[in-house]
Amino acid sequence: MSTKIINGKEISAQIKDELVVKVAALKEQGIEPTLAVVLVGEDPASQVYVRHKKKACEYVGINSESYELEASATEEEVLDLVKKLNQDKHVNGILVQLPLPSHIDDDKVILAIDPKKDVDGFHPISVGNLSIGHKGFVSCTPAGIIELLKRSDIEIEGKECVIVGRSNIVGKPVGMLLTKENGTVTITHSRTKDLKGVCKRADILVVAIGRTKFVNSEFVKEGATVIDVGINRDENGKLCGDVDYDDCFEVAGAITPVPGGVGPMTIAMLMNNCYEAAVMHANN
Ligand code: NDP
Repeated sequence: MSTKIINGKEISAQIKDELVVKVAALKEQGIEPTLAVVLVGEDPASQVYVRHKKKACEYVGINSESYELEASATEEEVLDLVKKLNQDKHVNGILVQLPLPSHIDDDKVILAIDPKKDVDGFHPISVGNLSIGHKGFVSCTPAGIIELLKRSDIEIEGKECVIVGRSNIVGKPVGMLLTKENGTVTITHSRTKDLKGVCKRADILVVAIGRTKFVNSEFVKEGATVIDVGINRDENGKLCGDVDYDDCFEVAGAITPVPGGVGPMTIAMLMNNCYEAAVMHANN
């Protein structure tokens, strides 16, 4: 049996190309989807992420507006800006690039974003909607994982799904989404007993722990789908995931590489959320 490589680069490009058409159709109706991107300070990684997000907006035809504040900006200044963007009718989505400088409370800023413009899906109302199955914005990496599975024809319904990691931004929402898709979900973490044994039950194994090549073939059932969310650097500074790709490749039925797996999906799903926000605002 040959192992399928789940190509996130290709799938995310497909999603963005579909959005080019959908956004153009909105524009024909006079609707201009607009994303406000807030960056505080000069963190180099954040600057790179913001640049990629703006480039994706340009590609799909979404207007992106930049709001760059000095690292010394006060929490009140950031909150005031978010308030202004909440009230600005032409802004459909608000993205505050995290992490914020340490003197600003990330949670307080997320809470200030109007849930109707919460395209990152981090607001407690968005998380609550997801947990009770109501419509709302789903955070981009978890949504991207589901899209990767669906577009690779990997069935979720009735499947044993094990997630390693229980963070609010990946592990927990992925668990809720897989449950919504009728998977049978187990969420594991650093206190889980017999982690290998639990992982080995999985038809679909999602790993999001932030530990270089932690999961090897001993964790993987023959033929399982392995989704690697991790973004780490190995001892040579090379980008790698939480999964030992070469080792697991021999056992898995399908696997995501790092880079080129889950990573590119996050921005594609952000673009999709911005599109959905513009549609929702146009209809209300
Ligand atoms: P967090 O640090 O917030 O959470 C890590 C989770 O992994 C915790 O729940 C922790 O358990 C669990 N964990 C840590 N060590 C072990 C272990 N040895 N065995 C079992 N569980 C363990 O991480 P994130 O979810 O934010 O990120 C995870 C990875 O995904 C990172 O590499 C990050 O860079 C990447 N990432 C990639 C994204 C993308 O592709 N776009 C987006 C977001 C993240 P406990 O709760 O018990 O401490």
